[in-house]
Amino acid sequence: MVLVTGGAGYIGSHTCIALHQAGFDFLVFDNLCNSSLESLKRVEKIINKKIKFVEGDIRSKENMQKAFEMYEIDSVIHFAGLKAVGESVELPLKYYDNNINGTLVLLEVMQEYNCKKIVFSSSATVYGDPHTTPIKEDFPLSCTNPYGRTKLFIEEILRDVYRADSDFKIVILRYFNPVGAHQSGTIGEDPNGKPNNLMPFIAQTAVGKHEFLSVFGDDYDTIDGTGVRDYIHVVDLAQGHVNSLQKISSLDGVLTVNLGTGNGYSVLEMVAAFEKASGKKVAYKIAPRREGDIAACFADPAYAKEVLGWSATKELNEMCEDSWRWQSNNPNGYN
Ligand code: NAD
Ligand code: UDP
Repeated sequence: MVLVTGGAGYIGSHTCIALHQAGFDFLVFDNLCNSSLESLKRVEKIINKKIKFVEGDIRSKENMQKAFEMYEIDSVIHFAGLKAVGESVELPLKYYDNNINGTLVLLEVMQEYNCKKIVFSSSATVYGDPHTTPIKEDFPLSCTNPYGRTKLFIEEILRDVYRADSDFKIVILRYFNPVGAHQSGTIGEDPNGKPNNLMPFIAQTAVGKHEFLSVFGDDYDTIDGTGVRDYIHVVDLAQGHVNSLQKISSLDGVLTVNLGTGNGYSVLEMVAAFEKASGKKVAYKIAPRREGDIAACFADPAYAKEVLGWSATKELNEMCEDSWRWQSNNPNGYN
């Protein structure tokens, strides 16, 4: 049985489908602080199966032990965490407590129940401002905000856990920019309040919830001056977790892998692609650079192919079409 912490969230809900399709039995553990049961209900409809769910907080040893008592868990996919960069600057202790303390409790309880396989959601943010692109896994690591530091610290904690007990099998997945939605259009990203990320903001602008998109800077050293990122379809990303679980037993050491497409697109290229896929106009205005942003960030995806046999399959137009289907069918998200 696979324990999916944070499985009711954006990436977790899509991963539940991929796990089901690959024949894994799984259980979702989530405190619903940034999600709702509605996402799991919709996943149940897609896979035509009831999902095992335990409501609880990863920071609570009792909550975690309950899940391990109820089910025979042999591996964990650990999504649970807070992810808003801006909020992490305002409320660093909240982020350190939730993400780091939560992971420590999870690891302790895993040890207690002799469960030693874990796939962890890290982020390309751990590369800081990379000296060059594409980004390889052995690039130097650095962070510019508390959210990023929680990811970096957790990566180090996992490496220490392995040093102390080499029976642990650990996969660290560094996601680039997840976008898109399941092609049914029934599940997708449902940010609280005004979205910080580009794709949900574009989609909400297209559906009429915002007057215009602010493009944060047009004077970067990129193709058109706007920031370049590696957008990856969430369904491809979900599959990366399945491949990780399929390989994890044969692992030696901690495997750290980029999950990206290897292609970088600028903000204006994203706007154009979304307009084409949706048939809607996305008004935008050039605004000052956003603090902490970097010019360009995209993956070298070769290692993922080599060690996980995984590579992204979905192109930008599919990412935009699927985001649009979700957004236009659910203008208010899961509400
Ligand atoms: P999400 O907020 O949609 O999902 C996270 C889930 O974890 C939510 O359902 C939330 O309720 C749950 N959760 C949070 N704290 C918890 C706690 N203490 N106990 C139990 N459950 C808790 O986010 P997502 O986009 O699906 O991201 C999943 C993971 O991937 C996160 O760790 C995030 O940092 C990481 N990540 C996301 C992105 C991205 O752009 N979406 C990029 C890189 C890495
Ligand atoms: N961006 C933007 N306007 C927005 C949100 C984002 O111009 O309202 C830009 C941002 O500056 C970056 C890119 O879009 O160049 C992706 O931003 P996002 O926050 O989605 O991802 P991250 O910066 O964390 O990679």
